Amino acid sequence: MLVAKTETALADRRGKYGLDKVQILIYHANMILEPSTRESVSEMLRAHGISPTHQRIEIAQVLFEKRWHPSADQILAAVNVRYAETSKATVYNTLKLFLDKGLVRELIVDPNKVFYDSNTSVHHHFYDVTSGEITDIPAAGVRIDGLPPLPAGMVTDGIDIIVRTRPRL
Ligand SMILES: [Zn+2]
Repeated sequence: MLVAKTETALADRRGKYGLDKVQILIYHANMILEPSTRESVSEMLRAHGISPTHQRIEIAQVLFEKRWHPSADQILAAVNVRYAETSKATVYNTLKLFLDKGLVRELIVDPNKVFYDSNTSVHHHFYDVTSGEITDIPAAGVRIDGLPPLPAGMVTDGIDIIVRTRPRL
């Protein structure tokens, strides 16, 4: 009896995704740094020509609640900690829609690692190849000089700089 009780208590404590309730609380504490209401998120989606469905709002809230550069899998995990109903396909499709509508930027640090950036203003990035951490570099902090002439008939559409770093040995 005691064993059964303990197991139930443990299952309850761990929740559906194996996250301890304490971990979930810490997670939420981090997420609530820059609160965005459902209303403000819906408005932002509409302003980008995206109809604000329940799941799109959840995904956008996760993306915009703090300044970070999550992968699709991190977004999926974060959405599911909160509501536990969203499929991987939905997250990927929604991110593609957000990309097409200019709501997020895609950040390809290597062919196998795509991250999403809710900051669509012009800026650059540090990428720590050891930890995988990405941090913003304000555009004003970078001067780009000596670029070759553009091919005939072309204009510059954008310049993205990723400065790859690793700890000094
Ligand atoms: Zn960024």
